[in-house]
Amino acid sequence: MYWKKLTQNEIKETIFSALTKNSNYRDEIIFGVPGTFLDSEQFYPDAPFLKDSPYLSVLVNNPNHIGCHTLSDEPVEELFAGTHEIEKDLIKLCAEQLFKAETNSVDGYVAPGGTEANIQAMWVYRNYFVKEFGAKIDEIALVYSQDSHYSMPKGGNILNLQSVIVEVEEETRSIKQSDLETKVNQALTNGIKYFIVIANMSTTMFGSVDDVDHLAAYFDSLNVEFKLHVDGAYGGFIYPFTNLNSHYTFQNKHITSFTCDGHKMLQTPYGTGLFLIRKGFMEYVCTDEAQYIPGKDYTICGSRSGANAISIWMVLMTHGSAGWQYKMESLCDRASRICNKLDELGIKYFHNPFINIITIKNGYISRQLAEKYHLVADSYEFEAKWWKIVVMPHVKQGYIDSFLQEIEAERKALTIDQ
Ligand SMILES: *Cc1c(COP(=O)(O)O)cnc(C)c1O
Repeated sequence: MYWKKLTQNEIKETIFSALTKNSNYRDEIIFGVPGTFLDSEQFYPDAPFLKDSPYLSVLVNNPNHIGCHTLSDEPVEELFAGTHEIEKDLIKLCAEQLFKAETNSVDGYVAPGGTEANIQAMWVYRNYFVKEFGAKIDEIALVYSQDSHYSMPKGGNILNLQSVIVEVEEETRSIKQSDLETKVNQALTNGIKYFIVIANMSTTMFGSVDDVDHLAAYFDSLNVEFKLHVDGAYGGFIYPFTNLNSHYTFQNKHITSFTCDGHKMLQTPYGTGLFLIRKGFMEYVCTDEAQYIPGKDYTICGSRSGANAISIWMVLMTHGSAGWQYKMESLCDRASRICNKLDELGIKYFHNPFINIITIKNGYISRQLAEKYHLVADSYEFEAKWWKIVVMPHVKQGYIDSFLQEIEAERKALTIDQ
């Protein structure tokens, strides 16, 4: 993985040059589209800071990135060809650098978030099974672990797909093979013939990563039709940088698609989910009725701001691959320092060394202390079993030191009581 860091000036020049290739509602004659510049009382175009802010300039230019722009080499939409091109470069960079795809083998778009990207994958595979195999909707099931994000049941609900939810081991958070086999066999008995399998390249609660080779090999051995999607909404911009031997790549022939959010680890504004899928699949969700959109629509969301795509590209270029790797490794270092202290104090926790999450077992920390530091519980409806710390850039060493002192004091008080 390697891409060069660009200077602030180079980034500015690239974005402003893209903007010159976009149409401008202010001084061009554009009849017929239901878009225009942003309200000029509020978002006045002559604000002096705009010339120094490529992101805000794109926001004010208001390019619509509706649809999917990677499907054809030619720009299908002339109005915003400049920033569309940057989104195409971004998809290519993420697919080929982060996930080792072959050159120009992946389609994708900047989705509003991980939720949509996950549901987009389910939608594609549902239609694929229906179109290619004549599947009935009730013959298709989603398979995911109990630690998966709630966008899985949400997607199942919207798309009318059943869920096979597999249990995980309490301590290791890895998928229980026996439960996987029991539930999949049950599903087969109940008439399920097609599986949409979701592998977590880090769960939100634990930072646990499913064994993707094992999942793929298991479904392969069943001789059933299945498609494998990776939910990297949380881990997408950290795991490939911290685990250089990651098996979560397009080199694994069973993996067809990835969700990879900018607005979690990459610190881009909300609205920067990323959906990546091997070429040949987006077509299953083409909405032919989208006749007034040049190039039709292939996404769930429809209209979306080009500023989102620009922001992901800008952050990746600001740091370069080496800079980003350094940053992600540093967060993991900070997390492992916390773990060392927890070990010393005999506190039980779950931690994946490649992810910046530490989940402390309930009973080893008081609710007061957990709440004081805004740790998040695994359940707010039932009694908490785990409390998690996410070592984000704002979780500074000084705060961590105070937290560790307080937890140590708590442990000491407990030992004296006993
Ligand atoms: C956050 C998250 C999602 C959902 O992403 P949104 O951007 O909030 O829609 C899905 N999966 C995982 C693992 C996540 O961490």
